[in-house]
Amino acid sequence: MAVKIHPSVDNGIRKSRADFSGGTLTCKCASNPVEVTLSSQTAHNHACGCTKCWKPEGALFSVVAVVPRDKVQVAKNGDKLKVVDPSATIQRYACTGCGVHMYGRIENKNHPFYGLDFVHTELSKDDGWQEPQFAAFVSSIIEAGAAPSEMGAVRSRLRELGLEPYDCLSPALMDAIATHVAKQSGKLAA
Ligand SMILES: [Zn+2]
Ligand SMILES: [Zn+2]
Repeated sequence: MAVKIHPSVDNGIRKSRADFSGGTLTCKCASNPVEVTLSSQTAHNHACGCTKCWKPEGALFSVVAVVPRDKVQVAKNGDKLKVVDPSATIQRYACTGCGVHMYGRIENKNHPFYGLDFVHTELSKDDGWQEPQFAAFVSSIIEAGAAPSEMGAVRSRLRELGLEPYDCLSPALMDAIATHVAKQSGKLAA
């Protein structure tokens, strides 16, 4: 039996739709759910093995993407949202009813990802969101209790799904972060 990664990829990955331009995220509360409207397609969608991202019960990985913060709007029941850890770099707004993270926001203007919010498009019924592109922080699933001896099977399953496994972010994103840092320090022309 194949290793289970996340319910939205375990049965194969659904490709995005080219003309897709956003949709609505809904939390899991049976009544008065929080709704967040995204008025744009997402980018850099990936499976994430870190211990901070929200993931559905039983999943080894979360699936998380980014979207410009000005494209994110809380549409309904925003009074149920609360920041999980106000001291964290990413302020994750979770529903106090069901625990789902509706969006994560960076307030530090010097952060390489400032201006982008983190979202889980599996919370949307709309079809056409960008499909996951790679797997990040794979080794970190051990911190959440995965057996080190299973990592070989996890990484081969990720490759089989087309999600190249990395133990930090993808090379493109690590390069973008380093470029940002080098421009701030003056090593590279801004
Ligand atoms: Zn909820
Ligand atoms: Zn994560």
